[in-house]
Amino acid sequence: MNTTTPKTRYEIAVVEGDGIGPEVCQAGLKVIQTALGDSGKLNFKEYRAGAELWKETGVSFPDETFAACRDADAVFHGAAGLPTVTAADGTEPGLDFGLQLRFRLDLYANIRPIKLHPGVTSVLRDYEPGQIDYVILRENTEGFYAARGGGNIVRGKIASDTSIITREGTERIVRRAFELSRSRNGAPRDGKRRVTVCDKANVLRSYAFFRAVAKEVAADYPDIELDFALIDAMTVHLVKRPDFYDVIVTENMFGDIISDLGAATVGGMGMSPTAEVGDHNGFFQAAHGSAPDIAGQGIANPIGTILSGGLMLTWLGERHRDNALIDAGARIDRAVGKVIENPNLLPGDLGGTATSAKITDAVCEALAA
Ligand code: ATP
Repeated sequence: MNTTTPKTRYEIAVVEGDGIGPEVCQAGLKVIQTALGDSGKLNFKEYRAGAELWKETGVSFPDETFAACRDADAVFHGAAGLPTVTAADGTEPGLDFGLQLRFRLDLYANIRPIKLHPGVTSVLRDYEPGQIDYVILRENTEGFYAARGGGNIVRGKIASDTSIITREGTERIVRRAFELSRSRNGAPRDGKRRVTVCDKANVLRSYAFFRAVAKEVAADYPDIELDFALIDAMTVHLVKRPDFYDVIVTENMFGDIISDLGAATVGGMGMSPTAEVGDHNGFFQAAHGSAPDIAGQGIANPIGTILSGGLMLTWLGERHRDNALIDAGARIDRAVGKVIENPNLLPGDLGGTATSAKITDAVCEALAA
């Protein structure tokens, strides 16, 4: 949403988080700073949140961090949460940062581009770079995840969490999906602009409602093909015919699941960036978690976070009509493309041996070239 004119300075709240979070976050910051040169346009300030903080203080998402994120122009994040750090109910307090931020800042659109870059061999080997290029638009504030902290366990025998789907929440995310499709070049298979509504409308009323509301919104976009897929069939389609998809819009939990699947088809979790945006705030992080199994070894793939930095600059640039930021975002995307083409610069999760630092430096060099 274009709201204001360019600013001389943008405040960015940075939250490194846990596990590989600090490593990939620093990689992303280095690339963003290189892309912007000496312009001094972005002012970064670090705040704490996550599982390590919860262990130290009993609080995972302090009020101060929330206020800073709310008031910043954008929030840049590594990853938070550690599976070994759990509360008495078995859930991870470290995840509160991302989850609470979504609800409290109403970051209703979780935008996850799934794109096969040159140099990456997909597990779907028949697909060339460019043939997988779609965006998953995950509704980010409703569904089952809206019940977090409110579920019930009765007599140790029955557990329940309630899913919430609203007309307003569905309309705005589906509308965003159509607008996004209009800004893209269509599906790689046939060049058609297409919005696929993914649900389980044949089983649950709430999903049938999601689909019905989506159909109403689609009436305003006759130029874009409307398509439907049930979530179980979708897991097959994303493997068998990923080139058919342009924009996929879906409920919160389904979006969480299929974006991991989509990421696996284009090289893995380390490759996928995310923009989580509402009408007033933006939150940018890679699609992966804190990967504690590889933390501290310098081998995490930083590309998802670096690309998220690019998305942040593009979002800020479009919002403030600031062409310098839009240009820097596009340059980060191109620089990553160049680096990944070089087999010596592939990270471990793509079958290579390059360290996070080597990849980050190469992206910075490509930006400078
Ligand atoms: P969450 O639910 O918090 O998103 P997750 O359960 O999806 O987390 P991850 O932390 O993303 O789990 O890790 C899943 C696997 O992917 C792990 O084996 C991890 O090492 C690997 N992985 C995740 N991110 C990266 C990365 N940036 N580079 C290399 N490997 C990664």
